[in-house]
Amino acid sequence: MLPPIASRFVAGETAPVALEHARETNDSGVGVILNLLGEHYDEREPADADAETYCRLIDDIARTDLRACVSVKPSQLGLDVGETVFRENLARVVERADERGAFVWIDMEDHTTTDATLDAFERHARETGGRVGVCVQANLRRTREDLERLAGLPGKVRLVKGAYDPPAEVAYRERSRVNESYRDCLEYMFAAFDDGVAVGSHDPAMVALAERLHDEHGTPYEVQMLMGVREDAQRELAADREVWQYAPYGSKWLSYFYRRVLERKENLSFALRAVAGG
Ligand code: FAD
Repeated sequence: MLPPIASRFVAGETAPVALEHARETNDSGVGVILNLLGEHYDEREPADADAETYCRLIDDIARTDLRACVSVKPSQLGLDVGETVFRENLARVVERADERGAFVWIDMEDHTTTDATLDAFERHARETGGRVGVCVQANLRRTREDLERLAGLPGKVRLVKGAYDPPAEVAYRERSRVNESYRDCLEYMFAAFDDGVAVGSHDPAMVALAERLHDEHGTPYEVQMLMGVREDAQRELAADREVWQYAPYGSKWLSYFYRRVLERKENLSFALRAVAGG
């Protein structure tokens, strides 16, 4: 069972518990993006199994009136095994979502996977007329140019700062430069994307910029944040704009939980207080 300490960041170990979390979150006006925890499989079997679990999750979501969708990781669907395995598994998940009227986000992993991820997104964006979304990372130097390609496609794009640690040849390494790139990319997206913009950030400065750009261009947008991070802000922002919470679930929660705890000292002190029973 998921220990209480991890339940701030992880929606549960099973789909029914995660769907219950989605219902409670929906009640506060926030949509939920469910991610089954799992990544970097080096064999086909677990990648196929996760694709099947996503298909069942999509069936479960379709049977409810929940405002929920899914987000998959390329390496979870077999990209480390081979691009064909990834493509086949992604096609299964997207086809099921298309049949059920559901939406599939594709997370972006390290910079060596960007081309394969964007190519897969493009194919499914065209085939489904936009029932898929992809994440792009402002810390990569290539992203501003990638956005020009993405602007011509149906589907949604989530802009994040980037959670990986790419080398300086391909990425901005200083925090201020990443923030500058995030602002540039956001400005371009609001000017060029008709289908809307997804702002994947907890940063109040970026959320305020998105609001200003929306007023200027009228482009629809949504804010996306992680479960367990600035949840008060998620509820407040949902009063007058679309807000989605990315909520991971599943039995492989330990490494995700450590990442959240180690990335910020507030999260670390929360974990220590929980361990100490405070
Ligand atoms: P940061 O630059 O980390 O922080 C800026 C400011 O935000 C802080 O000064 C503070 O005011 C506020 N803030 C941030 N965290 C907290 C906190 N815990 N508590 C209180 N205030 C806080 N990365 C990928 O590489 N690929 C993905 O597919 C991907 N998907 C994501 C999906 C979503 C919905 C989100 C929200 C993030 C995703 N990320 C992904 C992670 C992302 O790249 C960043 O690592 C992460 O969001 C931290 O950057 P930030 O913009 O939130 O703010």
